[in-house]
Amino acid sequence: MKTLTIGKILNDYQDYLSDYEIEQLRKVQRTRTDFSTQVRELKGALFGEEWDFMGDSIADSKDRSRGINPMSQTYIDQINKKRKAFGVRPYYDGGTASDISSDYFCEEVVRHTKNYKELLDLKSRKEKQIVFVDMDGVLVNFQSGIDRISEEEKEKYEGNLDEVPGIFSLMEPNDGAIEAYKWLCKNFDTYILSTAPWNNPSAWQDKLHWVKKYLPDVSHKRLILSHNKHLAKGDFLIDDRTANGAGKFIGKHIHFKEDGKGFDDWRAVIAYMKNLA
Ligand SMILES: [Mg+2]
Repeated sequence: MKTLTIGKILNDYQDYLSDYEIEQLRKVQRTRTDFSTQVRELKGALFGEEWDFMGDSIADSKDRSRGINPMSQTYIDQINKKRKAFGVRPYYDGGTASDISSDYFCEEVVRHTKNYKELLDLKSRKEKQIVFVDMDGVLVNFQSGIDRISEEEKEKYEGNLDEVPGIFSLMEPNDGAIEAYKWLCKNFDTYILSTAPWNNPSAWQDKLHWVKKYLPDVSHKRLILSHNKHLAKGDFLIDDRTANGAGKFIGKHIHFKEDGKGFDDWRAVIAYMKNLA
């Protein structure tokens, strides 16, 4: 999927749009609405075909329910050419959207256009967007801790290696994590948001020691340990899992190292965040 701004779409993608879509897009460009309203308005402007069914005659809606798109082939081709250019899934046979890729596309366009109310208000107060960063698998190389425990401990705690006493003090940073975290601190209001295992009290202490050792100044008093990450109020969460509330985070979940999400390593995360700072 492409990451574009409204300005870039108006400059480079006019050939894919109808005059009406261009006019609607310009209207969205002039608005200063909140994030979710702007996403909805943008979707209405760019992907109006997803509401075509509302104008169906009885015969049309029967066709659509049988998987036949009642619209003309020229129209369908034009719509799908546009959707392809934006990296959004094409319309399916019955002329309905097959997934939420257009919602996701619109969210990213609004985020990158940086013209929504919450962000403009934040900037007028000279504040920065809030970023939360997970530890295990994101800042911390969990495997490096496992590699350093004894065979007896591996056997005893099989399936629950995060409960090995002291294991978190043995872990090293992930490749590029320290440099990336420091960059985030300069450009965002950045915090560490991690979960420590409930049945391993030393992990709570070890995580504090780890942060003091590897990120002493930038993370001073910025460590949050929680099993309910969705309660943290911010703009971005960089996390490799959806567990402990990460999947319900209100804001953008940058799903670190998940296949197909495009955030394979810290380099990719920073390349994305650079456009949003
Ligand atoms: Mg993790």
